[in-house]
Amino acid sequence: MKTLIQGGYVVGFDGREHEIIKDGVVVYENDRVAFVGKDYKERVDKTIDAKGCLVSPGLIDTHFHSGINASDYLLNEANKVDYFASNYLSHGAPTREGAQHAHLKDVDVGQRFSLIHVLKSGVTTTLEIGGPGADPAPFVAMVDEVGIRCYTGPSYKNVSFFQDREGRLEYDWNDARGSEGLERAIDFAKKYNGACKGRLHTMLFPGHVDSCTPELMKQTRKAAKEIGVRVQIHATINLFEFHTVLQRERATPIELLQRIGFLDPEVSLSHCIFISGHSWLAYPYGDDLKIIADSGASVAYSPLKYLKLGIVMESFDKYLNSGVNMGIGTDTFPKDILSDMRYAALASRVAEKSFAAGHPRDVFNAATLGGAKLVGRDDLGRLAKGAKADIAIINLRDIAFGAVRDPIKAVVETAVSRDVRTVIVDGETLVDDHKYLRLNEDELLDKVQAKGEHVWDSVAKWHWTGKGVDEVVPPAFRMR
Ligand SMILES: [Zn+2]
Repeated sequence: MKTLIQGGYVVGFDGREHEIIKDGVVVYENDRVAFVGKDYKERVDKTIDAKGCLVSPGLIDTHFHSGINASDYLLNEANKVDYFASNYLSHGAPTREGAQHAHLKDVDVGQRFSLIHVLKSGVTTTLEIGGPGADPAPFVAMVDEVGIRCYTGPSYKNVSFFQDREGRLEYDWNDARGSEGLERAIDFAKKYNGACKGRLHTMLFPGHVDSCTPELMKQTRKAAKEIGVRVQIHATINLFEFHTVLQRERATPIELLQRIGFLDPEVSLSHCIFISGHSWLAYPYGDDLKIIADSGASVAYSPLKYLKLGIVMESFDKYLNSGVNMGIGTDTFPKDILSDMRYAALASRVAEKSFAAGHPRDVFNAATLGGAKLVGRDDLGRLAKGAKADIAIINLRDIAFGAVRDPIKAVVETAVSRDVRTVIVDGETLVDDHKYLRLNEDELLDKVQAKGEHVWDSVAKWHWTGKGVDEVVPPAFRMR
């Protein structure tokens, strides 16, 4: 089966970097790109008209947690200020006795919904952190049904986080919890690598630098090398983690990772905001950025999550210029990678106090080639002969875009997920005419709303205040 997409603007690849081909075509045969260029004379079985559109390599989301947005609603609340915008700690940690009511995974509704949601923003490959949980088979089956390309594995850590009734955070340490979690993750990695017709790849996801013992992190690197998978860990994601590790280890989280031999090109660091020199830290010592750059590790940066908290990376441009490979992640909600590209660019300009920073080229590269490098693939994130037929078609012919001269700048300036018309993974069309094709979106949304109500109704059962959702997170206006 050979299909030709008639652009539009086609994002080609010259072997080194992207190029824009006006009125270009992309031809793919089954799951691989066969031709990218101006004219294609051979016979094809099907033609897709994408005039007025950008035909882009499918985007790569390097940090994603599946589930509905009901919990993210709680993370946005700013009234617990004593953990310095460490939102998942200050709002996500339940009381001990209420823990069974919090953070319930729901494969069929929540996890399915979020994978479809991110797919519809043009993401064809996502790094889904921790999704399989303790019962992986239904999760893997769901990923197969959704059709997205997915790097995943259960996450694990030594610590469970709880809050007491006064809102004090407790690190509940347990060596066995960590090593048993690692064993489960290794089993998953061995069993499911290459599942879903080759679209599912496994990785190891130790939780955070402050929630894993140095020994567990060392064991993780050793195991990952033995079974040939990559690793991503949350690192320098909040002030609380930075100071906890500094106090505990007399090293920054990045220095600790270097000291235990954790960092190399097969490792990526989630978020990686609070490195030495960040203006929030009052810690102008050492050179974490140089450590990361010298190690070859990548950074998976989720700008929206931090903008919500009033925080910017300092800066996306500085990391790139230091030689760090950068990917973009969507992390919380909405999972709209086109917007996250824009946020990455704008946050970099704010951090650098320069409108020359945050170039659209650089954030587009991060969401394509940077993500591909992060997972070690040269057949993703680009449209070239032999690459995977993972393609996003973004409609630019809309009042919102006005006149278009440079389609990449137009996308970074204006596009949101709802401008993505078509998404193709492995040569299979999953989204067309802005609709996900494999299930009824209205029916899914009804289930998502019901699930959200259930999650919000359960807040009083696990929240340290014992209060209901409207008291914990007051609505913008009184509702009646
Ligand atoms: Zn995360």
